[in-house]
Amino acid sequence: MNNKPKLWVLGNGQLGAMLKQAANPLAVDVEAVDIVNPSNEQLPIKPTDIITAEREMWPISETSKQLSEHPNFINRDIFALLADRYPQKSMLDRLNIATAPWQLVTDETNESGLHSALGDNVLLKRRTGGYDGKGQHWLRINDNPQIPDEWNNECIAEQGIPFDEEVSLVGVRLKNGRCVFYPLTLNHHQNGILMMSISSPPRLEHLQSKAEAMLSTIMNDLDYVGVMAMECFRVGDKLLVNELAPRVHNSGHWTQAGCAISQFELHVRAMMELPVPELKVNFQSAMVNLIGVDYDEHWLELPNAELYWYRKEVRSGRKVGHINLSVQDKDLSIGSLNKLKTMLPEHYQAPIDWLITEINA
Ligand code: ADP
Ligand code: MG
Repeated sequence: MNNKPKLWVLGNGQLGAMLKQAANPLAVDVEAVDIVNPSNEQLPIKPTDIITAEREMWPISETSKQLSEHPNFINRDIFALLADRYPQKSMLDRLNIATAPWQLVTDETNESGLHSALGDNVLLKRRTGGYDGKGQHWLRINDNPQIPDEWNNECIAEQGIPFDEEVSLVGVRLKNGRCVFYPLTLNHHQNGILMMSISSPPRLEHLQSKAEAMLSTIMNDLDYVGVMAMECFRVGDKLLVNELAPRVHNSGHWTQAGCAISQFELHVRAMMELPVPELKVNFQSAMVNLIGVDYDEHWLELPNAELYWYRKEVRSGRKVGHINLSVQDKDLSIGSLNKLKTMLPEHYQAPIDWLITEINA
């Protein structure tokens, strides 16, 4: 009988599945648990097992309680704190970490007050539950802006930032407090949803240590253990933190193609207290999110492309897979991206062109 501790994951979406896949060669058993439609059965969790989560929030059920009340649920109190934008932004202010100016929207808040405090373009964001740009509402001063019904007390208001670009930092904090990071990732969004990422463009190198200092400060303050992602806006040489994710993150998927240790394996190592050497990046890599598109076997014809299909029902706007490409051979990867353009819908043309430009930069 196998007495090695198991890693249990709250949630069995694609992140849980990729944690399981990454843990397999390390001989670590991972159980990703469906907490949206939980079964009625008690989970056979042992006292020495370890619990993590692939999402910040979960419905309350016997199953989710069994996991979240286990003494080895790592980072237990951090999920609720970061799942709510109000305490998350308050923490950034407390730590003096630059973020878009903001305020809480209460019963006393009105549109003109928000515009005088935050400027002509104000973005309302639901405190909890938003993702992929959902749960957001722009107030633009010339557009008869109105706080939607029922949003008072449920959202924060942020200054619209005319950023140069969006970058993210993915890193890990180990139980002994040591922090290790991947190089910065450059991200391209469309309507609030991540479309493309590319790792470590040389022109971001000078921001690496600044970004690492910011995320170290955050993870140390929280006494966090595991992989965390920090999404930022780059404005000139400044980084403003947009949001934090206490988990593996979409903008770190390229590490599956480019690194000796992917972000998924890194999180597993941190959870199970396995050794973590310096993170070696073998290749600059890119990722294309597959959003609301049907599975296409032709993707498998593309040299250098690695498909991850999540086996989810395809719905418009839903992330159903991604393709990683290592880009050390520029011509080869650009050739693959140009072919991929012919296989994906119209709204992919501009983002793929963006990626090709970045590969050529
Ligand atoms: P989520 O990813 O959880 O949906 P985000 O806060 O990351 O929510 O917002 C999604 C996207 O919306 C960001 O990646 C960015 O493109 C845009 N965005 C968010 N906040 C601002 C802001 N203050 N100013 C301008 N654009 C923003
Ligand atoms: Mg985001």
